[in-house]
Formats: sequence, structure tokens, C-alpha cells
Amino acid sequence: TRTINLKNRPTGKPELKDFDFTTSEIPELKEGEVLLKSEYVSVDPYLRGRMSDAPSYIAPFEVGKAIESGIIAEVIESKDDNFSKGDHVSGALLWKETQVANAKGLMKVDPDKAPLSAYLGILGMTGLTAYLGLTEIGKPKEGETLLVSGAAGAVGSVVGQIGKILGLKVVGIAGTDEKVDLLKSKFSFDEGINYNTTENMREAIAKACPDGVDVYFDNVGGEISEAVLFNINKFSRTINCGAISQYNNTELPKSISVQPFLVKKSSSMQGFVVFDYADKHPAGVKQLTDWLNEGKLTYTETIREGFDNIPQAFLDLFEGKNKGKMVVKL
Ligand code: NDP
Repeated sequence: TRTINLKNRPTGKPELKDFDFTTSEIPELKEGEVLLKSEYVSVDPYLRGRMSDAPSYIAPFEVGKAIESGIIAEVIESKDDNFSKGDHVSGALLWKETQVANAKGLMKVDPDKAPLSAYLGILGMTGLTAYLGLTEIGKPKEGETLLVSGAAGAVGSVVGQIGKILGLKVVGIAGTDEKVDLLKSKFSFDEGINYNTTENMREAIAKACPDGVDVYFDNVGGEISEAVLFNINKFSRTINCGAISQYNNTELPKSISVQPFLVKKSSSMQGFVVFDYADKHPAGVKQLTDWLNEGKLTYTETIREGFDNIPQAFLDLFEGKNKGKMVVKL
């Protein structure tokens, strides 16, 4: 079977040459293990962090070893009582076409309840990030203004819709006019800003948020988030969910000091890692599933095809080539 490994740790933007493909035999199945055929592979911005060996909330990938991410797979053979041939499972698995995995840590997913790829997005890690980040840290209240960066992506597009369900005014920031249109036409955002064609983000945010920003769901960091600081309200909350604009930096950026802004507005910023809220995941998935079934939530995916194309799909996240969740179908 084929495997995609981390060939070397990238400096700056990752490239195809940072990955390599190897072929190996499939080991024999032992008690408590299942043989899995990968069906959908999730590519995510946070994997960039794991390619570096800087300390983080999750262990770095090892050079020369397989990359791991969220994967939906079919059980081909099982030596575990909880799984049978033909089941579909979700888990943190290796970038391999076929693999033997410990059955612990795998979760059955039902293709009759939702398309399999949805368990990597809206009903998976990114949906939970949107829901728990917004509700646990953002503490949104009806009538407030919610601003979302990375708004047309997997997390951002769900954050905005939940904001609308909860009765907020919702404004999104994204990288193309097509994405800004999508925010308004499909994801029920009230306003959208294209940061690539806007000269003065500080003014554009002030215009789109005339009552100021009460909750800022930050997926990108950097200059966009600096512009937001000039528009935050008294007692506003920022959810530091991600900082994709900074992941490929090779040196520390010159940035403005956030403290005076926070002091003046009694405003708070809090980092958020979805894995720290594992006890709230089951209730979160239930809420997301209910909203999806009630037609209150919708989603978009960018689906690439073929095992060979997994690394490129990952690289394309940093070029904004996805709308909604990026997944690779094998
Ligand atoms: P997305 O689906 O949002 O894909 C990434 C998007 O980021 C691109 O489509 C692109 O859209 C935007 N982007 C890329 N480069 C830049 C840049 N330099 N400046 C501004 N925007 C950029 O990914 P996810 O929804 O999976 O993740 C969104 C964020 O959430 C990431 O920062 C990720 O690390 C974080 N995250 C955090 C989790 C946690 O537990 N804290 C869990 C999951 C995700 P555009 O065209 O608009 O530029």
C-alpha cells in the first residue's frame, strides 16, 4: 500500500517536495485491530504546525514518517468486536491508501444520516471548532455584531451561520469577490469584505459594522486582525482560533501592541483549541446535526480526487483555493 510521508520540515510555505510517497506491505491484523481502506482525507491548516518541530498543543510529525489527519475509512476486515466489515469509521489516521489501525479511538459514522465527507467538516472537527469556539469563548448575545475572518472556509462559514441562528448581525472577511457573494447568498452573512481588494480594512470594517464589533472570531491573525482592533466594542470578546496568515512566517512579524486596545475597551482575547473541549464534543455534534436536519445550517466542500493529490490540496489551503471544507476523495 502507498503512504505519504513528511520528507523534510518546510521553511516558509510548504511545497510538494516536502512530501514523499513510499510503498510497503500491509502488516497482519492482530486482536483489537481493523484493516481500513481510506475513503476521504481531511487536509487542514493546523497540519502546517505539525510539520514544524516548534512546541505546540499537538506533537510534531516525524521526518520520514507518515502524515496523520482526520480520515473516513471503510472497514475491510475486523478483529475487534465493535466493528464489522463494511462499517465506515472516522479517526486520526495515517495518509495511507490502506492501513491497520487500533480500533480504540475510531468512531462509527453513518452514511445514511449524512454524506461521509460531512463527518470531516460540519459534523466533525471544523464544525465543532465553529460551534464551541463561538459559544464557549465568544459568549454571543442576540443583537450583537459578530465579525468572522477566514469566513468562507470550513470553520468560518459555520461560525457565521451559527451567529445568525443566535440572532446576531454577522459580517465576514474573505479573499475573493466570489467568496464574499457566497457568504451572503448561501451562508446568510449580512455583509462581506474582500480583504484582497480593500485598501483600508480599518475603515471597511467600521463601515460594515456601524455599531462596532462585539465578538471577533479570528481564523487568520496578522494585519486583518490588527484592523479589527480599531473597531472593537466595550466588553468585546475575540476568539483566537487560528492565524493562518502567520503559519508560513520565517521571522517574527512587526505588529502593533494589542494591550492598549484591550485595556481601553475592557475587551478580552482568548485562545481556543477544539481538542481541549472533548467533553463537549458529543453534545456539539448533536446540536450541529439537529440544525443541519432542520435546514438551519448548510455547508460547502471543495472535494479533490485521488491519493496523489492530497499534498497539493493541503498546499492550496494557503492560496485560498477552497470554499468551505477541503477534503480529498480516494
Ligand atoms: P479554511 O477552510 O478556512 O481554509 C483556509 C483559508 O484561509 C483559505 O481558504 C483562505 O481563504 C484563508 N487564508 C489563507 N491564507 C491566508 C492569509 N494569508 N490571510 C488571510 N486568509 C488566508 O480552513 P479551516 O476552516 O480548516 O481553518 C480555519 C482556521 O481555523 C485556521 O487558522 C486553522 O488553523 C484554525 N483551526 C483551529 C482549530 C482550533 O482548535 N483552534 C481547529 C480547526 C481549525 P481566503 O480566500 O479568504 O484567503
